[in-house]
This record gives sequence, C-alpha cells and structure tokens, in this order.
Amino acid sequence: MAIFDSTISNDTLIALDLERADIKSMNIYNDGEGLTIDVELNSKPHKCPVCSTETSRIKGYQNKIIRHSILNNTPCIIDYRARRYICPLCGKTFFENNPFTNKGSRLSVATVYNVLADLKNPALTFSYVASKYHISQSTVANIFDRGVNIPRRTLPECICFDETYAFKSDRSNYICVLVDYKDKKVIDILPTRRMQDLTDYFYNIPLEERKKVRYVSFDMWQTYRSVAKTMFPNCVTIVDKFHLLQEFTRKATRVRIRIMNKNKKIKDELENEARRLKKEKKKLPPDKQEKLIQAQRNYYILKKFEWMIFSKNKDILNPNLEKKMNHALGQYCNLYDLFNLLENTDEDMTEMINLKDELYDFYEKCTYEESKAKINELIIDFRSSSVPELVSFANTLTQWKPEIINSFIIIPGINKKMNNALIENRNKSIKLLKHSSNGYTNWKRFRNRVLYTINDDEKFKL
Ligand SMILES: [Zn+2]
Repeated sequence: MAIFDSTISNDTLIALDLERADIKSMNIYNDGEGLTIDVELNSKPHKCPVCSTETSRIKGYQNKIIRHSILNNTPCIIDYRARRYICPLCGKTFFENNPFTNKGSRLSVATVYNVLADLKNPALTFSYVASKYHISQSTVANIFDRGVNIPRRTLPECICFDETYAFKSDRSNYICVLVDYKDKKVIDILPTRRMQDLTDYFYNIPLEERKKVRYVSFDMWQTYRSVAKTMFPNCVTIVDKFHLLQEFTRKATRVRIRIMNKNKKIKDELENEARRLKKEKKKLPPDKQEKLIQAQRNYYILKKFEWMIFSKNKDILNPNLEKKMNHALGQYCNLYDLFNLLENTDEDMTEMINLKDELYDFYEKCTYEESKAKINELIIDFRSSSVPELVSFANTLTQWKPEIINSFIIIPGINKKMNNALIENRNKSIKLLKHSSNGYTNWKRFRNRVLYTINDDEKFKL
C-alpha cells in the first residue's frame, strides 16, 4: 500500500524524477543540518541481469545515502531503502532499478546534472560549484571527468591557428588553439605549439581528412607555416592581418618612446639649467628658452595624445570642428590641430605615421591582384626608411610575403577575407578558465573544460 505524505509537491517528485506510482513511501524532514528524503519504491518485476528471467522475489533491503543537491541553501540527501531481488533460476542477487543515481554512484542524477550544467559557464570554478552543491571539489572533478569527454572535431576547410599563454606544461607555456573559421567552433586545443608535437598530432589524422583543408591562417610563427605546408597538402597559407599590424604597432611604439625620451632629456637638462640660473637671478638665453618650450610641448603631446596614432576617430581629419582651450599648450585647438602637432614633433614621427598610413591603406584598399605589386612598394619604402625601428619591418614583410598576399583572398562560400580576430575572443575565455581554475594541472580536464564551455553545442552525458 502506498503511504506518502500528500503534502509532497509535484515539484519534489519531478526533482527526484519519480512518478507518484513508483513510490511506496516517502517522508521529507529537516533535521536541522539539512533536508532528508526517506524513500522506498514499489516492488515490481525485474529481469535478472545474468539470465533475463523475470523475478519479484525479494532478497532484502539496504539503505543508501545519496547526495541530492537541488536546493541552493540547504544540503539535501536521499535516504533510499534499496531493494535487492534474487533470481529463482540462477541465484543472482541484484538491486532494483532506481531513478536517483547512476550505477554505483552516491550522487543523485539531479546533482550530476546541475553540476555539469553549471560547469558550462567558464566563470564558475570547480570549488564554487562544489560549495554550491555541498560536495567536495574532487567529487566535482570526478563528475566532470565522467560526464565530459569531447572528441576532436573533423578538420574543416578553413582553419585558424592561434596560441594563448594559458596552460603551463613541461612541454610549452603556450597552448595552440585550432578554430574553424566558418562555424567559429574550436576544433581542438593542443598543449604545445612545438613542431614535433604538432606534427605528431596531425599525423594521427587520416590524410584524406587533411587534404580537405584549403585555407590555414596563423600569426607569424614559422612552425605553423611548416606544419601547414607538410600536413595539409592542398592548403593556402595566410598570415593574419591583425598579427602583422600588431607587429607594426610594437615598432611604432618604440619609435614614439625614443622620441619622447629624447625630448625629456632636453627638457630635464634645460629645466635644471634654468633653475641654476634663477638662483643667480639670471635667465636662459632666448635660443635655449625656445628649445625648452618646444621640448616641453613635444613631450606633453607625445605622452597625452599618442592614442591618436592608431585612432579611427574621424574628428582627427576634420579641421573645421570647434576648438577648445588647451592650457598646457596655451592655445585653442581641436583634434585635427593636435594630430598635426603630434605628427610634427619629430621627423621620425612624421615618417612613421606616413608608413603607417601606407600599410593601413594597403590592407583597406588593395584587391588580391593589386596586393602583389603593392607589397613590393611597401617593402622598398620600409627598407629605405630613415627610422631605424621600421627598417626591420621590411624583413617581416619579405619573409611572409606570400602569406600576406594570400590574406587578400576572398574565401569562396563566405565571401570574406580570413583573419584570426575571432580567435582573440576565444583566447579571452580560455584565459578566464585558466584564471578561475587556480591553474589546471590535468591537461585532459583543462582541454575538456575549454571545449565544453567554448563550443555551445558540446553536451555532457549522464
Ligand atoms: Zn538469473
């Protein structure tokens, strides 16, 4: 006879994944430390797991305590009176089927489900999830390891290679991230970007699959080019535009800092001299006074308005906008005027900004065909530059010339050029995972966690 408290709501039953008809008795009480659900199921015929004979012969009972973390504020356990059956034919004894746990587990299905659902969020740590469900961190890790095992995705037509500094292993400080450019999914992540490791990895993928890869884009890491050329016999190699521009930006910053330091040195020396002269009630001679004012202005502009060098703010190009008083410079100016001053702080600054414009125009205006001739002009202009920091950029352009030209190819099917911009966002998520994990030491777990959280279509299994 079914005896259960009629106050047990349907919600509780659903949370337990039970039909009312399954329950022989259920009693829920709070003992002050948390909620306990005493439950016994109705007896019903079971098939023997050995010989499949149907039986209803009861061998006995055993109480099982199951962690059932469905409530946010209170720990909850199921005290389950588990029935054992015996097979009349072969004598095998076995537990009845139950909806609370997977075989051998002391955690309810709902707990496992909740834990795995929460771990989909890259911001939640194992220890946070553990305390939320009143279980240990190693239990969370076990649930994760059992529930999430994500295979590599099939190699697509367009692959972006990138790396991020995330998982410290004995092999490498970088992890290599492979992204499908078309569907934006992460194909796989590898614990290293070393030649031998990448080669081993791709050798294990059938050649037929590798032959289908047509476009591979990467930053300027030689290994990626070699690996792509040997492993994907039909691919076109592409250097990512953003990485190339980043390299230019680094050099441009060096130029600016050098000019700033030069002005600071003049400014400091003349300020000291002026101070000494003041004690003797004298002043700097007019030519030095003018030199000091120029150095002070240059230093101020280079420090305060350097952001304009790479800015896309259209106001910079408009001379007719309202001018405001700039007290440091002692004049009315708008962004156009300020940029003009910035550009003219030094001959090297003028040249650097001209070369920057040339490089940006190259990327913005050239077609694939035009890029082949234009890149040679760029190389000559950088090579013959009088700015020492920029001369070596000609080497970068020469070294990666075919890959830079290839970056102008409009990819059939998506009608876009290929770049790695989307990977950078993914790297942010990976860094977040790394940050929220207090350092993973288990590569397999880290890899699964990354793929599980980043690819929204990856599922867990209970
Ligand atoms: Zn049997």
